[in-house]
Amino acid sequence: MTERSIQPELYSEAPATAASTADLFAEIVFDRPLDHSYSYAVPGRLRGQLAIGKRVAAPFGRGNRTTVGFCVGISAAPPARNVKDLGRVLDDEPILTPNLLRLTRWMADYYLCGWGQVLNAVVPAGVKRQAGTRTAVLLDAVPESLCPNPLPKLTPKQAAALAGLRSIGAALELRQCTRRFQCGPGPLEQLVAKGLARRLEKRVDKFETGEMEDDTDDIEQETTGPLTLNAEQLNAWAVLENAVRAGGFQPLLLYGVTGSGKTELYLRAIEEIIRQGKEAMVLVPEISLTPQTIARFRGRCGSVAVLHSHLQTAQRGGHWRRIAAGQAQVIVGPRSAVFAPTRRLGLIVIDEEHESSFKQDMTPRYHARDVAVMRARLEGIPIILGSATPSLESWYNAQRGQYKLLTLPHRVLDRPLPNVALIDLRHDRHPGGRFHALSPSLERAMRQALERNGQIMLLLNRRGFSTHVFCPACGHVEQCKFCDLSLTFHRERDIALCHYCGYEQPPPERCPQCGLGQVRFQGLGTEKLQAEIESKFPRQVVQRMDSDTMRKPGSHQRLLDAFRRGEVHILLGTQMIAKGLDFPNVTLVGVINADVGLHRADFRAAERTFQLLAQVAGRPGRGSLGGRVLVQTYSPEHYSIACAAVHDFQRFAGTELEHRLAHHYPPYQRMARLIVRGKDQDKVGEFADRLAGAFRVALDKLRSSGGEVRLLGPAEAPVFRLKGHYRFHFQLQSPHSGTLHQVLRAVVPTVRAPKGVELAIDIDPLDMV
Ligand code: ADP
Ligand code: ZN
Repeated sequence: MTERSIQPELYSEAPATAASTADLFAEIVFDRPLDHSYSYAVPGRLRGQLAIGKRVAAPFGRGNRTTVGFCVGISAAPPARNVKDLGRVLDDEPILTPNLLRLTRWMADYYLCGWGQVLNAVVPAGVKRQAGTRTAVLLDAVPESLCPNPLPKLTPKQAAALAGLRSIGAALELRQCTRRFQCGPGPLEQLVAKGLARRLEKRVDKFETGEMEDDTDDIEQETTGPLTLNAEQLNAWAVLENAVRAGGFQPLLLYGVTGSGKTELYLRAIEEIIRQGKEAMVLVPEISLTPQTIARFRGRCGSVAVLHSHLQTAQRGGHWRRIAAGQAQVIVGPRSAVFAPTRRLGLIVIDEEHESSFKQDMTPRYHARDVAVMRARLEGIPIILGSATPSLESWYNAQRGQYKLLTLPHRVLDRPLPNVALIDLRHDRHPGGRFHALSPSLERAMRQALERNGQIMLLLNRRGFSTHVFCPACGHVEQCKFCDLSLTFHRERDIALCHYCGYEQPPPERCPQCGLGQVRFQGLGTEKLQAEIESKFPRQVVQRMDSDTMRKPGSHQRLLDAFRRGEVHILLGTQMIAKGLDFPNVTLVGVINADVGLHRADFRAAERTFQLLAQVAGRPGRGSLGGRVLVQTYSPEHYSIACAAVHDFQRFAGTELEHRLAHHYPPYQRMARLIVRGKDQDKVGEFADRLAGAFRVALDKLRSSGGEVRLLGPAEAPVFRLKGHYRFHFQLQSPHSGTLHQVLRAVVPTVRAPKGVELAIDIDPLDMV
């Protein structure tokens, strides 16, 4: 086994299969955080089977354990040292296209992890296990001219089976033979043994044979033809049409307020791509993957494969094979759909491009938007990034001309954006000491809306009953056993729960610290809000939507359907209720506390707050009834809240960019976050210091040659103890991604983490906890 650093030419110039007779060597990567491939000799018997993009089993490491790896290169050039022989080839067909190999190679470089780790994460389990397929055994009669002479003696059953096989004149599955010829497998096997029949093996897809059914495909279609575009849509379409007609890499940022007709433009672009005989990929946040969305694509776009994340393993495998075989014209799915093995990709659309669910929070810690842009570059195709509240990264890219900006500033059909009013909680409150989630103004507005038969949505982005369990006698706040986080009380389940690690315990009645106080359940969660609403509006149907009430698959959709039918008057919930939903009868939307996410230790807190408010503020008034939005806040003058109230993304973005520039944050600086964690606090802290020290030395050297990278930290992470691990972190920032990577690549391999200490590198981090 020889290590080789991975060079891109390994896969671009090597022969595609190993069919010649010269000595051949394969380059294999494993699911390990290693930045190199391993060379193996390809034994003669595997020559015809091995190809780039297939998986293999190979002896690996000192113990020569059989380990699964991916073949990423084949060459005739002998490696420097003696090499081991490959064991087996696992796939019948390559499971990765050349472009996916290039894309994953780039990801390994960019996100600083092993190529094998990326490949392993990208290929769904259903494909690796070949789920939804089986090996079929087929029988075929040997042509008479090739049969042994003289003909061996046959029993009557054998003779009948042979006659049957010959009359069919093609290979037939063994289990069908036994049914047709009404015999057991014995006589058929005898025919093979006597040289009169041949046995073949073939892998068959159970979805194709009808043995398995894909029940995800029973969604109705909505057949609306293309609409007549309005003037703003026409302007944007002129550019888009050009891009999809001409082909070639081109990133386009489609900034359009909610209901401005963005989806209509996606559909047109996709129709054009299908006309060209190519495929389109649409990435959406999981939560937007509703039957309505799917129906809209199905109605206009031919064969649409939908890659839900809750697909079963076998279904996932089936979809992957269908896509690889070119049987899907449009692929719609969340984050991981960016890796769909399309062969003739012509367009990528990424809707709600600002959504943080596009970033994966485990290795490889990729951002699907950035991977999608890279994929579009590799495939040489246009990509549309759409949003009503673009991420500042994308907005900035549009400002400096990296992305072409298309704007839809108004709703279609001159529908107004809803009127948003701020309620200042410092002044607008009920007299007396008792806490109320609803201010008098919001409560009044709710009564009015209900009198006029309108429906109401209330947003509170905190689930559970209370946010902390508190002892008024000694001040104790009940903490998670494993994290530096207070436990949330869930009254319905009667538990105190850690929202980070899932640790739960019965809620204490007396204070566990002083034993004296009766604990109080402080802070407002959706459960407590529901209780207040139910007591104030006893005659209305109130329902709650959060991850506690929506645990069963399909419950989300069922509740939304009931709400749409008017069976629910007040729907309250977390940000789940804020996404892409269109309810014509909602005349009032209330935000219970706009400040929930504003004061987090995260430089994106203002951006997140603006996005969430803009989303909810886009909900009502899509129908003819009009509607309004009331936002309760203690910080009405904060620019993220003030700008959201007047639907002014551009002003928000302008102010926020000034802050980012002043504080050296993205998008002006590229950022890497290094997190060191382990159970032994001293060891973890020591390693963090040592690693940061090594970076400081490298940065000093770099500075003398003009390079610009800043180091912040190391410090305790905002949540110091998480899931029983102590965590230190530090950040590297640079205006140039290349310099940042250069430093990381130079320093990280030189400092080894002691046993029990782990290092995680997060490039372009979103989560700062
Ligand atoms: P967005 O994706 O920006 O939220 P959509 O494309 O979903 O907007 O459009 C909002 C609604 O307006 C949809 O019901 C859509 O069918 C309709 N619509 C879009 N474009 C037009 C148009 N040019 N004329 C009339 N209705 C339109
Ligand atoms: Zn915890």
